[in-house]
Amino acid sequence: MVLDLSEIYSNWNATEEKTVHPDMDSIKSKMGVFPILKMEPFTLHLTNEENKRLLIRGALDVTISVPCDRCLTEVLTTLHLVIDKSIPIKNSKDAEPDLESEEDDDQLEQLEYMNGCQLDADRLVYEEILFAWPAKVLCKEDCRGICPNCGANLNETDCGCDRTVPDPRMAAFQDVFNKFKEV
Ligand SMILES: [Zn+2]
Ligand SMILES: [Zn+2]
Repeated sequence: MVLDLSEIYSNWNATEEKTVHPDMDSIKSKMGVFPILKMEPFTLHLTNEENKRLLIRGALDVTISVPCDRCLTEVLTTLHLVIDKSIPIKNSKDAEPDLESEEDDDQLEQLEYMNGCQLDADRLVYEEILFAWPAKVLCKEDCRGICPNCGANLNETDCGCDRTVPDPRMAAFQDVFNKFKEV
């Protein structure tokens, strides 16, 4: 969803509230594709601050399905996103040139969710989701993971594989022994 901010951009100290209906059903990132199960409309509070900066604030909860780091079972993960942005307003004709302006220009170019006076709310939410992404996702604290040998989910079954990690020197012996057996 794209919001047109041209009015607030040109109105000294104006404030505005916009209801955002995010239009996303999944999150695609380097880590993969994750379905969004729940994301409700939320309110963005916009403030033109002295025609110098635009404040963008809001909060929302997003529920995403993310596989457990150990056993790959899908885990419902709710992220609480807090949007709190302050971006420079540079299109106002009567704004005083200030010393920070060059820095602000750089800053604006890095904002992929802003295109002139258009705010790409989906892009903004997307960035916030990546920012809030959990470092670790586990289906439960003591998840036992999957068997490296047969791939069974060890929370559900005990496959009976021997999972003791052998001493590397013993493993070399075992390899020789196995080869011997094959002959
Ligand atoms: Zn797990
Ligand atoms: Zn196994």
